[in-house]
Amino acid sequence: MFVKDPCGIACILVTYLAVFYADYVVIKWVVLQTMLDSLWGTFNVVMFNTVIFLLMIAHIKAVLTDPGSIPLPQSRVDFSDIHSSDSGCDFVNWTICARCETYRPPRAHHCRICQRCIRRMDHHCPWINNCVGERNQKYFIQFLLYVGALSAYAVALVVISWVQECQDCIQDIPLKQARIMHCVILLLESALFGLFVAAIFIDQMQAILTDETAVEQIQQHGPFRPHKPKMALLSEVCGKEHPLLWLLPCSSVSRKMDTPLIDHHV
Ligand SMILES: [Zn+2]
Ligand SMILES: [Zn+2]
Repeated sequence: MFVKDPCGIACILVTYLAVFYADYVVIKWVVLQTMLDSLWGTFNVVMFNTVIFLLMIAHIKAVLTDPGSIPLPQSRVDFSDIHSSDSGCDFVNWTICARCETYRPPRAHHCRICQRCIRRMDHHCPWINNCVGERNQKYFIQFLLYVGALSAYAVALVVISWVQECQDCIQDIPLKQARIMHCVILLLESALFGLFVAAIFIDQMQAILTDETAVEQIQQHGPFRPHKPKMALLSEVCGKEHPLLWLLPCSSVSRKMDTPLIDHHV
């Protein structure tokens, strides 16, 4: 499922451009200019690109993973019996989406951009051109973490390169001016993206630990849910494996379905 939203596609391109520019400045204007004489330079290039690799994997997974969309019904659904049905209490909290014309489980909400109802929808994020929902929230949070780590790493490398400037590296004035310009742009870019993802990361943690998605925080009339311990809430989003593995964008989120999918064959 790929959403055809021009704003979302532009945001993805901006993200990739920003990451590639950061890599270019770090390699060409920081490491090659000031850290050539040691293994320290090679080490930083490898580490910086490892973070970029993880960032890209998490981002691609957040973009391409279905956030938990509710399939549209094959045929028109007859809603007249929704309250009279006593065939089972599994569907007690299910609601109807008038736009999708279908039943949806509790905590599912309609996204106007995706034009679908999304399970446990948090918000629609243009930076991943996708909703943040039940099945891709883990990758979204990993993406935020890696962008934060990359920003901090870039700032650290620029600072280190200025403090430990080697004497015989560059004496050429235009070259030095170009280096200053690129380093300043990289610092600004890192500060901007770093603070931005830090703010969203705090929001996401609050939403998970209070067990309320951004959509539910606005509505403030969600059904009562039993209180759960913090680790249980985190593992609902990140998976059952060891918390250290939550940082890796490789394992897929294997969640049990809270509610069965309704059969639409009326
Ligand atoms: Zn809907
Ligand atoms: Zn959406």
